[in-house]
Amino acid sequence: MLVPDYYYIIVGGGLAGLQLASRISNDVFFKGKKIAIIEPQAKIENDKTWCFWQNSPGKWDDLIHKSWKKTGFFSSETEEILNLGDYTYNMIRSADFYESVKKKLDKTEEFVFINDKIEKIDPVTRAAIGQKANYTATHFFDSRPDDHYKAKGKHTVLYQHFKGWIIETQENIFDPDIFTIMDFRLKYEDSTSFTYLLPLTRNKALVEFTFFTPFLTKEEVYDEMLEKYIRQILNLKTWEIRETETGIIPMTDYPFHKENSAYITKIGTGGGWVKASSGYSFKTTEKKVEQLIQNIKSGVSPSQGLFNKDFAQYDSIFLDVLARRNDLGERLFTKFYTKNSMEDIFRFLDEETSFSENLKIMLSLYHPEFIKSFFRKLLSSRR
Ligand SMILES: Cc1cc2nc3c(=O)[nH]c(=O)nc-3n(C[C@H](O)[C@H](O)[C@H](O)COP(=O)(O)OP(=O)(O)OC[C@H]3O[C@@H](n4cnc5c(N)ncnc54)[C@H](O)[C@@H]3O)c2cc1C
Repeated sequence: MLVPDYYYIIVGGGLAGLQLASRISNDVFFKGKKIAIIEPQAKIENDKTWCFWQNSPGKWDDLIHKSWKKTGFFSSETEEILNLGDYTYNMIRSADFYESVKKKLDKTEEFVFINDKIEKIDPVTRAAIGQKANYTATHFFDSRPDDHYKAKGKHTVLYQHFKGWIIETQENIFDPDIFTIMDFRLKYEDSTSFTYLLPLTRNKALVEFTFFTPFLTKEEVYDEMLEKYIRQILNLKTWEIRETETGIIPMTDYPFHKENSAYITKIGTGGGWVKASSGYSFKTTEKKVEQLIQNIKSGVSPSQGLFNKDFAQYDSIFLDVLARRNDLGERLFTKFYTKNSMEDIFRFLDEETSFSENLKIMLSLYHPEFIKSFFRKLLSSRR
């Protein structure tokens, strides 16, 4: 048997790939093991703004660009300013994250960066087939996005899709202490669509128009909605666009874990690491990486026990309701944010709440459509 080129290969140097690499580099267990990160892009641009919440010091505190302790929730029925309690809501610019992790890995003897695009991973020869070369390893951690979830099946697929502008204004109109988690006062037709606003200073903010829908839309629609929001809700006549960000995040109960095999572990979005009902994955990634490392060190399959069936079931029911009755989004999120504390909401989204707490949150959202979705999902899982 030929000696493989690398012990591990991480395909993709994005969020999941670099968080995994960073965690591996902190652990003497992996000392002396050669690991390649294969990524086609330079990853120097700020292509994403990542936000996450935490209630204690975290690993990425040095990279936090801005933090908030309060949030606004707005709908046609209510306007609420909510305290985050023990939590802070933090923003990291992806460019800072890429630079910091790469700098750290460059100092190690274990890691090498390879600029290539992987076409496929052959599980028999255990080789990643790249456009420039082939690379062998004992195990692959693969963060290439996988489109299998888009195929028709028993699962539900929605998309969190958005466009955001970082705008600068002449007047000081933003309160930099309060971000807006969801503003439903302006919606696209009858869909689950809202604006998310992260004020960076008194005259600079990221304004993002977001959909949670089964359909995607044209570029012009985001532009129109952003412009309407800035004119009608922020009451601005002029502003400068400094940066733009766009994204499409799958919100699905597709069983991503089925793509894992003895030599390939899917990570990141393609591994199902994005929370299906929220689209958040920065903190989830950290938790999954930790579990994966513990699994490796215990000699079990890296992906063992990465998913909690109860929470997957809640996500699945919620997605089914939104897929069938997309018009209900505003009402459901209004109940979610007005009948529960932000601390409970964050713990629930982090899958840290108990069964009785989950029941309380699910009851706070109550709508007859949940009963229908519950039985639909139950029946389809038995088919
Ligand atoms: C614009 C945007 C904003 C987001 N904001 C938040 C947020 O605020 N909070 C949050 O928790 N989540 C957020 N998300 C969701 C999620 O955290 C991100 O999508 C996150 O980047 C997912 O991590 P990943 O590693 O799966 O994907 P990525 O970070 O995209 O990394 C995948 C990497 O694989 C590489 N790749 C692709 N194909 C190949 C190939 N064939 N060969 C080799 N490499 C390949 C890509 O170039 C990329 O670098 C956001 C998503 C987007 C798109």
